[in-house]
Amino acid sequence: MAIVTDKVGIVSCSGEDLPEGTISRIATRIVMEKLRPDDTVTICLPLFLAGSEDERAFAKVFPTIAVDGCDKKCAEVGTNKYSGKPVATVVVSEIMKKYPHLKVKSRDKLSAEEKELALKVAEEIATKVDEVLGRKK
Ligand code: SF4
Repeated sequence: MAIVTDKVGIVSCSGEDLPEGTISRIATRIVMEKLRPDDTVTICLPLFLAGSEDERAFAKVFPTIAVDGCDKKCAEVGTNKYSGKPVATVVVSEIMKKYPHLKVKSRDKLSAEEKELALKVAEEIATKVDEVLGRKK
């Protein structure tokens, strides 16, 4: 199986119960659509966990970054268990400690503060993507 070296796979947790899970999904979308669209691919975690060998080959083919809402690290654990060890993990609850003024509460419609936090998380993911690809932006 050929290893892809010019793209990074992003696997976000699918936490519906915590606002941090929502932030991880939105931040991943910002990276995919705006910050590093040409450098990233993704797979949704439930499909990944329920999927066939094809889906589970994902982290064997791409260097992978897990994006998790909290320290339970469901995306990291699931990716590691079913496919391959992620090269990096970004944890929203850890990043939040750097921005205590940004409060997160909602699980669907984001406030201005939540959007700002999602962008901060997206920027950290994009920095990891650059590191993994050996690029400076
Ligand atoms: S990492 Fe945390 S927020 Fe994400 S799915 Fe797991 S428990 Fe939920």
